Amino acid sequence: MKVAVFSTKGYDREFLQRANQQYRHELFFFEPHLTLETCSLGFGFPAVCVFVHDQLNGKVLPLLFEHGTRLIALRCAGFNNVDLISTQELGLKVVRVPAYSPQGVAEHTLALILALNRKIHRSYTRVREGNFSLEGLLGFELYGQTMGIIGTGKIGTTLARIMQGFGVRLLAYDPVPSPECQALGVQYVALEELFRQSDILSLHLPLMPETYHMIDRRVLGQMKPGVMIINTSRGGLVDTQALVDGLKSGKIGYLGLDVYEEEEDLFFEDLSGHVIQDDVFTRLLTFPNVIITGHQAFFTRNALENIAQVTLKNIADFEQGAVSAENEVTVSHLKTK
Ligand code: NAD
Repeated sequence: MKVAVFSTKGYDREFLQRANQQYRHELFFFEPHLTLETCSLGFGFPAVCVFVHDQLNGKVLPLLFEHGTRLIALRCAGFNNVDLISTQELGLKVVRVPAYSPQGVAEHTLALILALNRKIHRSYTRVREGNFSLEGLLGFELYGQTMGIIGTGKIGTTLARIMQGFGVRLLAYDPVPSPECQALGVQYVALEELFRQSDILSLHLPLMPETYHMIDRRVLGQMKPGVMIINTSRGGLVDTQALVDGLKSGKIGYLGLDVYEEEEDLFFEDLSGHVIQDDVFTRLLTFPNVIITGHQAFFTRNALENIAQVTLKNIADFEQGAVSAENEVTVSHLKTK
């Protein structure tokens, strides 16, 4: 099938081309994100393949449909950038890669926790400058700490499995508890209880209208002083300005972010020669107890192989009229399971 692949980087091209030796789709790679301004690049393509920052909104989707597109193939699990009401109205199918790197994202979450806790980012630069002072590098042991996991799907459950090895007491909140987590001894509690008791809080739930800014000023007030907050899920789950204020007051002791609500204008690009205009983001960069990575939690060789393989298979399945129900995204996904 003829596929317009948006937001492609060298690594996408490499992994997709290798996997495509099996599928033999006609892949056309475009570097820009899919937006209203660039969507004409996709005209005439029955399949449009996109990633997390592409804008599949109520203006772009009808234009693509009008020009022959019938399939939207997401190279990711999250679908918050797709207007599913529009795709349903138009009769456009949407497919995704539901689980390409639960292990990778969970391991990156752990990397942020350990780096923040033991201040690895600070000791790395100190030692390189010949500064071997330990002042300000005091950490704490994870053993015996209480960790709250919000969302125990594939990634949250994988993280629970990993954290159990550290002797952490695990609390969780999810409207649909995971039997594996329950078997591990994870205790499901109400959100308020989780906020009240957690030393470390990690988010692993989807961004949806009802989860937008779920971590806000009010909720921060319920948390322990000095709490560690980790978000490797979606930026919009947290009110970033409230985080900045929480860091300034000391309420938040550690913050690890792999996602940011305004990341579309920043992440995945080399902006090292530019002046970043986002003042909230640049303020975050000034705190010694904040580590930000640019949406790289998924970025492992294993994940890119899976993404390429599943995406191309999803397209082949569509061509044969046999889209996998597990990989299709419909309006029903907008409701909390
Ligand atoms: P999943 O669908 O397996 O799990 C999501 C869980 O969240 C489900 O168990 C669901 O019941 C729960 N949930 C839904 N609404 C909730 C609510 N209001 N409160 C608490 N829990 C709720 O998804 P997953 O594969 O574990 O991925 C989780 C998120 O991680 C994705 O939505 C995606 O945004 C993000 N993600 C980030 C990266 C990255 O590179 N940073 C990579 C992949 C996924």
